[in-house]
Amino acid sequence: VGGGGGGGEDCCVKVAVHVRPLIADEKLQGCKDCVTVVPGNPQVQIGAHSFTFDHVYGSTGSPSSAIFEECIAPLVEGLFQGYNATVLAYGQTGSGKTYTMGTGFKDGFETGIIPHVMDAIFSKIGTLKQQAEFQLQVSFIEILKEEVRDLLDPSSSNKPETPNGHVTKAAIPGKPPVQIRESSNGVITLAGTTEVSVRSLKEMTACLEQGCLSRATGSTNMNNQSSRSHAIFTITVEQMRKLNPIFPGEAAPETLHEDYLCAKLHLVDLAGSERAKRTGSDGMRFKEGVHINRGLLALGNVISALGDEKKRKEGVHVPYRDSKLTRLLQDSLGGNSRTVMIACISPADINAEESLNTLKYANRAR
Ligand code: ADP
Ligand code: MG
Repeated sequence: VGGGGGGGEDCCVKVAVHVRPLIADEKLQGCKDCVTVVPGNPQVQIGAHSFTFDHVYGSTGSPSSAIFEECIAPLVEGLFQGYNATVLAYGQTGSGKTYTMGTGFKDGFETGIIPHVMDAIFSKIGTLKQQAEFQLQVSFIEILKEEVRDLLDPSSSNKPETPNGHVTKAAIPGKPPVQIRESSNGVITLAGTTEVSVRSLKEMTACLEQGCLSRATGSTNMNNQSSRSHAIFTITVEQMRKLNPIFPGEAAPETLHEDYLCAKLHLVDLAGSERAKRTGSDGMRFKEGVHINRGLLALGNVISALGDEKKRKEGVHVPYRDSKLTRLLQDSLGGNSRTVMIACISPADINAEESLNTLKYANRAR
């Protein structure tokens, strides 16, 4: 049940750029910083190319708090008014998607967006306790090679790490594959995934940790933590609002109206956007790359169709069905829902070409 009326936004997709600092590895290789963030302007430059977005965050200050306050907090507020929302972290492997989102175990947990979101949700619930009752559900899935996998599946406990440090997860024989379903009122659900009911920040954090642990990772020659899958952490907020709260001393009204609202927030750590050939590995990896590109390609097309007001007015077809990723996000991209894309880039000169590709992709969303 989505909230009625428009969101009051001029465009349903906001785009932010996050430029991380040079990392030790890049400094060791003698890389130079080739990205300029224009102070006081949401503008970023690489060589002769200049782009303007809704927000641009450089490596100075405290980008993660600023990103949360300026881009994400309004989405969390919207959740409590019944608006679905999606946050997407886009960029090449190593550009800081996982760090920005908070879907890693090490550095991301304290600094990333997801921990901020969880804090904000629980403090908001604290302030609304008198007016409403809440139920929270969490799911965590990944899409790899156009297949949806449940990262919170209790029947597949986390496997120990293999000698080369990869977390492996065996397929469970006989388990039906996860299916994306659409109800008659357009609500998308995932049949066959675990939805965990959580009552506290601690329980929600445990789900995040569990899912991160079971997330498949593999190595390519670009980054051994690289991920070729899209990881989607979803928080559903169900709310029974008591429209006539009983104040102390006031007689109980005869009919206590209640109002039900339900909205979800998808927090998506997208697969690396680099082209498959850059990973330079075997045929299988290449195939994964091709599939990933399908999701990212479809996402780019969906977002660009949504961002084009002229096309929207003409009722142009939005190609949600072109990939699992866009199909899954269908009821949370466009319409009344709010979307923030965070394009992550490395400042290093060796990554200039991919960074430029990322900025071009993000630019289509505006
Ligand atoms: P991705 O998920 O896009 O592959 P990561 O989030 O894993 O990239 O980041 C790659 C490396 O860069 C990691 O070692 C991470 O700790 C570091 N890093 C990313 N963003 C930042 C940042 N804003 N500040 C400091 N280090 C960062
Ligand atoms: Mg990552």
